[in-house]
Amino acid sequence: MALIVQKYGGTSVGSVERIKNVARRVIKWADAGHQVVVVVSAMSGETNRLIALAREIQPEPDPRELDVVAATGEQVTIGLLAMALKALGRDARSYTGAQVGVHTDSAHTKARIESIDEQRIRDDLAQGRVVVVAGFQGIDAQGNITTLGRGGSDTSGVALAAALGADECQIYTDVDGVYTTDPRVVAEASKLATITFEEMLEMASLGSKVLQIRSVEFAGKYRVRLRVLSSLTPWDVPLEQEMRSGTLITFEEDQQMERAVVSGIAFARDEAKITVVGVPDRPGIAYQILSAVGGANIEVDMIVQNQSVAGYTDFSFTVGRGDYARALDILKTGVQSHIGAKDIIGDPKACKVSIVGVGMRSHAGVASTMFRTLSEEGINIQMISTSEIKVSVLIDEKYLELAVRALHKAFDLDAAA
Ligand code: ADP
Ligand code: ASP
Ligand code: MG
Repeated sequence: MALIVQKYGGTSVGSVERIKNVARRVIKWADAGHQVVVVVSAMSGETNRLIALAREIQPEPDPRELDVVAATGEQVTIGLLAMALKALGRDARSYTGAQVGVHTDSAHTKARIESIDEQRIRDDLAQGRVVVVAGFQGIDAQGNITTLGRGGSDTSGVALAAALGADECQIYTDVDGVYTTDPRVVAEASKLATITFEEMLEMASLGSKVLQIRSVEFAGKYRVRLRVLSSLTPWDVPLEQEMRSGTLITFEEDQQMERAVVSGIAFARDEAKITVVGVPDRPGIAYQILSAVGGANIEVDMIVQNQSVAGYTDFSFTVGRGDYARALDILKTGVQSHIGAKDIIGDPKACKVSIVGVGMRSHAGVASTMFRTLSEEGINIQMISTSEIKVSVLIDEKYLELAVRALHKAFDLDAAA
């Protein structure tokens, strides 16, 4: 008998029929003797609808109240799934994050899980119940409802699996595993049977939305066995087949010699570039620019500072597109005259494409293949950043899909290759 945490995303619970199918699948696992804790997202589109409602009232919604609104999507699905389970004869209980003691910090709309009181869940499991928990939400020390950031139900699932010491955390979604790149963009993308934890962490942080980055961080920290698999297969596929399906996130760099140099291609569409033009090249400038932006809780990603000419240089960096206008405003009003910059310019239509692979460590020339491929397609690279296992470039968003397809082919990732 194993203890399994299963997380079902928005599409997987997107209709009453799909919720019934999730119930049948869960019962299949429970009937085989496993203890099952289920974490669910809101029905697909629901969180967007709730956030849009809030914005109709307040264009920049109050974060505490936004969390109160946004967290309701998951409350609907836990109740519906528990009913579906009971209707099929399986005892079940639904719980919100607060009810089950998912304690977070107070950073509304992007709270971090600090601890989980798992006793109540264990008691229910011991009584043969399926426990259904609302993803994406928790409660802070003052009793306020918090949410964990978009895609946060993945993190709820992995955190619960860690707290319970589950044998596996299964992330059921609308694709049947982790692919070499988003299969919705490149039809030739192929499914990976395994991906190393390190690669998955890079893929998630560089924009692959299949897993929220914090869920991968949690899995790494607590060594949670994590699998991504499809909820859209018939619910009655044999259990032995289902338990080996999808993609397993591994901690070993197994069969490294046979692995491709590049395992996957990630991309992020919603980037924006800001350039501080003509700043004096002296100590403290980068600090003054970036601390002003960081102080407003805006995350900075890629950073480039040019060689100075006659004592002046240009300083460029990227931020999420949602923060672009605010970052530009902060620099123009609060920083430009202070540091003596000539101008602040920006481009809100950038995107980032990255190649990822642990195989890069032992292979030279990977970056140059990337740059050659982009140049053959006439794509201009605006910024570059590298780590041991990834190379990222910033390009104009209109070339995104072309770049991803060309790189997928150049690194022999096309399924037919
Ligand atoms: P859920 O609602 O189940 O959480 P998400 O939409 O958050 O599902 O994540 C699944 C989606 O992630 C897929 O539909 C796919 O378009 C996208 N995706 C992006 N990159 C990848 C990748 N490398 N492999 C698989 N799916 C990916
Ligand atoms: N419902 C939330 C969202 O849409 C959380 C999730 O689905 O993981 O972001
Ligand atoms: Mg998701």
